[in-house]
Amino acid sequence: MPQNNKLAFATRSIHVGYDSKDCEGSLNPPIYMTSTFSFDSAEQGGARFAGEQPGHFYSRISNPTQAILETRLADLEEGEAALACASGMGAITATLWTLVAPGDKVLVDKTVYGCTFAYMEHGLKKFGVEVSYVDCTDLDAVKAAITADTKVLYFETPVNPNMRIMDIAGLSALVKDVNPEIKVIVDNTYCTPALQRPLTLGADLVVHSATKYLGGHGDLIAGAVIGDATTLEQIRLVGLKDMTGAVISPMTAFLILRGLKTLDLRMERHCSNAQQVAEMLESHPAVEQVFFPGLKSDPYHQLASQQMSRFGGMIALELKGGMDAGIKMLNKLKLIKLAVSLGDAETLCEHPASMTHSAYTPEERARHGITEGLVRISIGLEAAEDIIADLEQSLSAATA
Ligand SMILES: *Cc1c(COP(=O)(O)O)cnc(C)c1O
Repeated sequence: MPQNNKLAFATRSIHVGYDSKDCEGSLNPPIYMTSTFSFDSAEQGGARFAGEQPGHFYSRISNPTQAILETRLADLEEGEAALACASGMGAITATLWTLVAPGDKVLVDKTVYGCTFAYMEHGLKKFGVEVSYVDCTDLDAVKAAITADTKVLYFETPVNPNMRIMDIAGLSALVKDVNPEIKVIVDNTYCTPALQRPLTLGADLVVHSATKYLGGHGDLIAGAVIGDATTLEQIRLVGLKDMTGAVISPMTAFLILRGLKTLDLRMERHCSNAQQVAEMLESHPAVEQVFFPGLKSDPYHQLASQQMSRFGGMIALELKGGMDAGIKMLNKLKLIKLAVSLGDAETLCEHPASMTHSAYTPEERARHGITEGLVRISIGLEAAEDIIADLEQSLSAATA
């Protein structure tokens, strides 16, 4: 099917990038389980390697099933091109290894996913890239932190795990005003393009852990980068092909295409469930604070209403009694699974300080705004009343 932005998002997530006419009427795209591709002539092979002729030649660079997924993801994020990778970390590292060199500076929001932090702090820094952390909710602080060597501004919104929200349009405009060469990279894992499209707000690149909502079923690990065609080609030929080799398997690309068909539908349910759960938690006597932008009391409610079409399926909370109460509550859950990851059909609950964000030392967590008592919930697709009942029983059991 040709790209046609006049079709609605839900329709495009089912159709873009694949026409069954091209594959014997097969409703679903074939899974091209092949490492290599044969050439008609030595000249053709040479031309493909030289980039003078389109066509696949080795699946570490591209594969037809992967290409369908990339066309669809680029369309949904409203970018020119996309690259699918073996994991979210594969996408993030392939992107940054392509964009930076020793002496360059990367500006990062003070709170990011634990392994992203570990990569910045222990990976990039080890190779002579300067990494500095800034509170991206403070636009003046970001402006003051930009120097002549700054090449990248990197942030998540909403932030994993504490649900701070960044002004994507404001930050992108500010950065471009200082130096249009600086790349603004947004990790859009928490929202997916169903709720938020950073490229339309001025960002240069979007990265994803497709392991989460895009796949949507907790049965794969994958990632993606979306942006302009020139930069994406560089990331494919440098960051993916030579530096990380973090290539997605054709089988995994197929599973994400399957997941995308229900993305819009799933996000609707995740969002409405999360709203109901957050409202219950906010009025629960055992809860100290709920972090969810859909609550009118949330400091980011206004900004979230502007740049997100709905408020997402992720909630963080702090119990009265801090970490001890939080750990007790996690141990009392019955229906809800005690597990990291997010965006699955199952509601998942975890303790960032000891799990997803344990790559930070306790001192770093304090400095970077991750409290020891924080509990993170990925609201699933079960009936809201069953999720609420399990949380209520675990909260009373934990605080009895
Ligand atoms: C999970 C996650 C990642 C890492 O993705 P993987 O697929 O696990 O490699 C990156 N960013 C965010 C916000 C995440 O939640």
